[in-house]
Amino acid sequence: MSARDEFKRRHRNRSTLTGMVDLKPWLAVNGLTVRDFALGIDVPLRTAEGWVSRGVVPSPVNQDKLTEYVHTHCAHYWVIAVPDGPSSEGICQHCGHVREFKNSVEYTPMVTKARDTNGKNVEGKSGA
Ligand SMILES: [Zn+2]
Repeated sequence: MSARDEFKRRHRNRSTLTGMVDLKPWLAVNGLTVRDFALGIDVPLRTAEGWVSRGVVPSPVNQDKLTEYVHTHCAHYWVIAVPDGPSSEGICQHCGHVREFKNSVEYTPMVTKARDTNGKNVEGKSGA
């Protein structure tokens, strides 16, 4: 098994049965309420509450809207797989969105920066 497959296996089990983002924790992470969410994709609040709280599966049309909303509003937190060939696969830990990251010089600094912003614990341990 390649490192990439291992990575996928480890990070995929967050997704729900439908393959959709787990809305409740996603909204919490992004500081959004169900109302914001309902307004954002233009569905009745009760409908959105059904998806978030009762696990109702949206219609295909609404799933598209929902996915688009999530991808637009998510403060993506990419976890990038170990470099393996010309590109690496990154999976957002918040919404489960997958995208390819090119392992080239011009892209790498951007990726590194994004990860540092979210996981900074390194600085500030001096001066005890
Ligand atoms: Zn995301």
